[in-house]
Amino acid sequence: MNIILATTNDHKREEFSRILQGHTILLPSDIGLVFDFEENAETFTENALGKAMDLARRAPKGYAVLADDSGLCVDALQGAPGVRTARYGMEVFGRLLEAQERNAYLLENLKSYTTDQERSAHFVCALALVIQPYKVYTICESVDGHITKEPYGKGGFGYDPVFHVDEAGETMAALGNEKKDLYSHRGRATRLLKTLLGDE
Ligand code: IMP
Repeated sequence: MNIILATTNDHKREEFSRILQGHTILLPSDIGLVFDFEENAETFTENALGKAMDLARRAPKGYAVLADDSGLCVDALQGAPGVRTARYGMEVFGRLLEAQERNAYLLENLKSYTTDQERSAHFVCALALVIQPYKVYTICESVDGHITKEPYGKGGFGYDPVFHVDEAGETMAALGNEKKDLYSHRGRATRLLKTLLGDE
């Protein structure tokens, strides 16, 4: 299947290409489309569906559209940054922060929470796949863990160095690609999608 990802994030393309082997994964820019969607819903699933529907209306016939809305929910912060994960810290700093700056801001906000339990968090991934106007799948999955006290590991992107996957005993950034795909929110959601597609 030719699948256009409703994102401009190349890291997401890389991860989907790894997990959805056998399908061609494209970014909108690969086929001359501009993608710029304002994510203002209250849930990951609604945002993913909004992004997928927006692009599907403009996609050429024969292309499926896949959108991913993901984010970090920290229990001590009452589920924040949640759907605002990409914009975390913007209201304080007045600009979109770089990943390293956002991680530092998160660690600062959690400094009074000392135990792993107090720093518990969940990485969430909502997927919406539009194959045809009346053939639409949504999935929302997550992985549990906690926020480390220091960033650790060189792989992945975004919050990976500060998110410790409890089941794997490592930060996402220290897991390496294969293990990240096995444990991550995106890996879990995408494997379910493959089952829906009859891939495995
Ligand atoms: P969005 O889904 O494009 O709104 O992005 C959500 C935010 O979560 C961005 O800041 C990403 O960097 C971050 N994010 C999403 N998935 C991951 C991941 O697998 N690892 C680390 N950060 C992620």
